[in-house]
Amino acid sequence: MSGDFVHGFHGLHGFFSYFYGFFRAFRVIRVPNSFIPITYSCGKTSLVYSLYLHIPFCAHRCAYCDFNTYAGQESLIPAYADALVEEINYVGRRLRDYETKRLSDHSTIGTIFFGGGTPSLLSPSQFDSILGSLRANFTLTEDAEITIEANPGTVTFANLQNLRSLEINRISFGVQSANTEELRMLERTHSFFDVIEAVTSARKAGFDNLNLDLIYGLPEQSLQTWQTTVKRILDLHPEHISAYALTLEHGTPFGRWAKRGLLPLPNPDLAAEMYEWASETLEANGYEQYEISNWAKNKDENGRMKDEFLQNPSSSFIFDNSSFACRHNLQYWRALPYLAFGAGAHGYAHGYRYSNVLRIKTYIERITNYQLPNSPIRRAEHVEASNLQFPLSPVTVNHHKQTLQDDMSEFMINGLRLTREGISIDEFEQRFGKKLQDVFGKKIDELLKLGLLESKTSEFLKNSEVLRLTPRARLLGNQAFMRFV
Ligand code: SF4
Repeated sequence: MSGDFVHGFHGLHGFFSYFYGFFRAFRVIRVPNSFIPITYSCGKTSLVYSLYLHIPFCAHRCAYCDFNTYAGQESLIPAYADALVEEINYVGRRLRDYETKRLSDHSTIGTIFFGGGTPSLLSPSQFDSILGSLRANFTLTEDAEITIEANPGTVTFANLQNLRSLEINRISFGVQSANTEELRMLERTHSFFDVIEAVTSARKAGFDNLNLDLIYGLPEQSLQTWQTTVKRILDLHPEHISAYALTLEHGTPFGRWAKRGLLPLPNPDLAAEMYEWASETLEANGYEQYEISNWAKNKDENGRMKDEFLQNPSSSFIFDNSSFACRHNLQYWRALPYLAFGAGAHGYAHGYRYSNVLRIKTYIERITNYQLPNSPIRRAEHVEASNLQFPLSPVTVNHHKQTLQDDMSEFMINGLRLTREGISIDEFEQRFGKKLQDVFGKKIDELLKLGLLESKTSEFLKNSEVLRLTPRARLLGNQAFMRFV
């Protein structure tokens, strides 16, 4: 399945924002160890959140997958959808309390992402009730990006039409390969024919923002089969393509088989060649690489309206919104806040990183217990839950209060994944109240000398200097990132 931060950036702001459909010039208020309220030129103050909702059901567990997802528990889907609605109501109430105490204006939601698992296993009416509760509890921006991940073979035209009518406007298909043998080895249940059918149906249903996910560096994969996959994907003209190298995760069948010598290990040199070939080919076909593993078409090339704010010369900070780059994942890479709902979902807001209980049944039980305050045990949980601070909820099992050092490190590690945008030196100082050179100067100098980082004038921020990975460092990103941990 295409991925999300909950999967460790599988499938994953300076400062851009949408406010009732219009970008406004804004400045950033410095709030160390916290999230950044944005003051718009109109004087209003707001936070723009993203929302991630985890749907942990799959028809089958693929042998390479270490996501928090379960096969054979589909009978729990109705109760899970109800529990999600309750969690959304709970967190929404807490956000309103928080706003009343701390901020004068409502926060807005710029993106929503249904990730999995296989979200397309939920029915349109279940999506309808979840989206209804999101709309009742949060203010969505007029042009909010709403993405659903789907497996080819689990969607029909009628189903997609229903999803589109619910204003879901982006769909991400987990394709992985166009080669039958490779799909079989990955234990994917779809064929490439299913992919063609799913894309055709999605277009017919009105989706004009499609992502297709690919995996390369498979055991015994040849450069030629990879090239064929990329070419077939290009023939489908998606707006966005993600390509991730296969990693053999501990605890998965692939990880165990590889350890016992039963699975040939992916060849790292060949995987690097595949990455470079794909990168050049996608760029040559009009896809701009904006992140280590992500490419997007430019909206103008598709005849889409150019965003007003790009032409607004008075903006202090101008961010590129002219492409189909995934705005939800940009929120992660730009180290901006997102709320998480569902079993095993991870969130980052109000100075916390936090995660929910993993197992589906426990997730449902915790929400149900919280809703029934009359039993003594439940009352105790209710009291405890009522003491939880936003954004934590009765299903939160881990939370970590971020230090300034955590936030600065994550800003670097996430932001350097953005291959064009990089990290802005001015923005670092504005967010954290410290000069980048004073905090990470020595490490940055080393990376510049090694040729892994480059310093450039920003393509998006006026009069601003940015640091970003050099093209050669895109394959060696971890060597740069580990220095900021
Ligand atoms: S479809 Fe396969 S890869 Fe995707 S989440 Fe389910 S088990 Fe994992």
